[in-house]
Amino acid sequence: MDKARQQRTGGGRRPGWAAALQALALLLLGLPCRAGAEPLRYAVALSYHEDAPGRLDVSQVRALGESAWKTAKAEGASLGYTRSVVWFRLRIGLSGPAATAPVDSILEIGYPLLGDVQVHGLGPEPLQLGALRPFAQRPIPHRHFLVPLSVAPGRTLELLVRVRTESSLQFPVRVQERSQAEVADAGSLLMHGAYIGVVLAMLAYNLFMWVALRDQLYGWYLGWMLLIATFVLGMSGLAYQWWWPDSPRWNLVSLPLSLSLSLVFATEFFARFLQLARWSRTIRRISSVILLLNGLAALAALALPYSAAVQFSIACAMVTVLVCSAQAMVIARRGESAARLFLFNFSILLSGGVVMALSKVGILPHAPMTELAPQLGSGVELLLFSFALAMRVQSERRLREQAQREVIAQQTRLTGELERRVAERTLALEQANQELASLSRTDALTGLYNRRYLDERLGEEAARSRRSGRMLAVLMIDIDHFKRLNDTHGHAAGDVCLQAVAQRLKGATRQGQDLLARYGGEEFCLLAPVADSTCAQQLAERVRLAVAQAPVPWAGQSLALSVSVGLALGRGGDRDAVLALQRVADEALYAAKAAGRNCWRLALPDALPERAPPSAAGAGAAVLSPAAAG
Ligand code: GH3
Ligand code: MG
Ligand code: MG
Repeated sequence: MDKARQQRTGGGRRPGWAAALQALALLLLGLPCRAGAEPLRYAVALSYHEDAPGRLDVSQVRALGESAWKTAKAEGASLGYTRSVVWFRLRIGLSGPAATAPVDSILEIGYPLLGDVQVHGLGPEPLQLGALRPFAQRPIPHRHFLVPLSVAPGRTLELLVRVRTESSLQFPVRVQERSQAEVADAGSLLMHGAYIGVVLAMLAYNLFMWVALRDQLYGWYLGWMLLIATFVLGMSGLAYQWWWPDSPRWNLVSLPLSLSLSLVFATEFFARFLQLARWSRTIRRISSVILLLNGLAALAALALPYSAAVQFSIACAMVTVLVCSAQAMVIARRGESAARLFLFNFSILLSGGVVMALSKVGILPHAPMTELAPQLGSGVELLLFSFALAMRVQSERRLREQAQREVIAQQTRLTGELERRVAERTLALEQANQELASLSRTDALTGLYNRRYLDERLGEEAARSRRSGRMLAVLMIDIDHFKRLNDTHGHAAGDVCLQAVAQRLKGATRQGQDLLARYGGEEFCLLAPVADSTCAQQLAERVRLAVAQAPVPWAGQSLALSVSVGLALGRGGDRDAVLALQRVADEALYAAKAAGRNCWRLALPDALPERAPPSAAGAGAAVLSPAAAG
């Protein structure tokens, strides 16, 4: 067993992890593996000759010297966009212990966009293949170009393949045993099926989201995904096989068209997903220009020849990728996590395309997993963006809830503030009302109660006297010769004396029990509950003395003052009874004035009305005057 075969068949001892790695590699790269049987080994030598004018026929090509041929890798060659006819020469040999009889084999040319492909060397007529022929003409109905071969062990089969194409000239080749090719293809188709399943499920999901949320972002996303899936399936050859097998021209047009249209949608999705307008108007405008550019490329796909259209749409795609990535990077650097997410998802999609491109040019092995890289990239990206969109719904809900909470907090704060202010104002109002009430019952000059308040209180004082069973003394007090004082010393002196008299009268009364008020001008009225007539007379004397005992100092002078007092006494009764008492006391005051002033006079008890008859006012004013005696 040679060294190479030892590696292939897994001979020799190797650790468990190495076996596990190999299993993974087999799964991912689809390395040929046949359980049990020794695998057949095909030896493929590939070389090519470029015939720029395209005038050579097959016999002339066969006659070319060895120096005219360029050797390519056995997996294939990639010549980019060329207008030349290119002849590929395949020399296929077979070895392996099981190879005794000719083996039913398949040559697979794995690039489904090659326009015109003629395979010489299998019979008198060349086998006509290529994307420009209806699908039904293929000998094996497959997305790639499959050529059935019979390879005999020990003999080299030489094939000449003439290729002329408007697409990029990629020529990946693989020769396999037919049965093995079918098995491998089943696995590959299963992967394509899985991709289509994911696409359909995600498209349906996002369609529902679009309907439910009415967010146009989903519409742009759906458009992007639908078109990128069309492009990916077109590139794999499945779109032609399944959707439009009789329209080779449309099949070619559909590729640049779906690519450019998908980028129109991608650009708008990108702009809305990252809310570009919010970041900068210039960035948003650039994005619109890119959208228009791709729109133009889509129109070009319909109007221009295939080769020009493809190259234009690929150039636009590259510009789009570069510009969008740069924009996303700028925004990501400003700390926007959505931009980072976008870059990540986008890079997965791109790496799918890059892996496919690298495998087509032979840098990566041609394997189911590399062929499926675009599907894998766009499928994963589809899932991730659906997730990102769902997260967006979540984050928007969170933002809405936070805004609601803030509004409620603000409302609560405002309500609290309002309540506090209302309470403050209410208190201020109450205080103002109290002040007003106190002002309205206070005499401004003396600070005593005023006449109005006294009148209000008459009924209450009568009731109090009634309840307590005590007598009510009513004292009418008048300053003597006050006019003279005003005339002599001026009104300012008069005012000062009025204030002094008020203070002295207040000092002679009992706080809380007696009610003292300025009755008007220089007259005062005192209502005082008393035990008996003697107490009342003592009170009258105290009042008189309080004023007369000392002069009032004013402007360096001493102003002598005195008052005359009229005293009346009653028991029980009501407001009118007290009013009557006031009148009687007033009579007694006149009597005191008449008696020479600075004295008090008591109205005789029998002259007092028990129930305040209206006529009581003019009752007699017989008096006794202990003070006058002094
Ligand atoms: P009599 O002993 O008879 O009561 O003499 P009288 O001067 O006090 O008599 P009258 O009642 O005629 O005078 C009251 C004077 O009181 C008249 C007025 O100029 C003075 N008067 C009344 N109210 C005020 C006041 O608020 N301030 C001042 N300065 N004088 C007042
Ligand atoms: Mg008077
Ligand atoms: Mg007077």
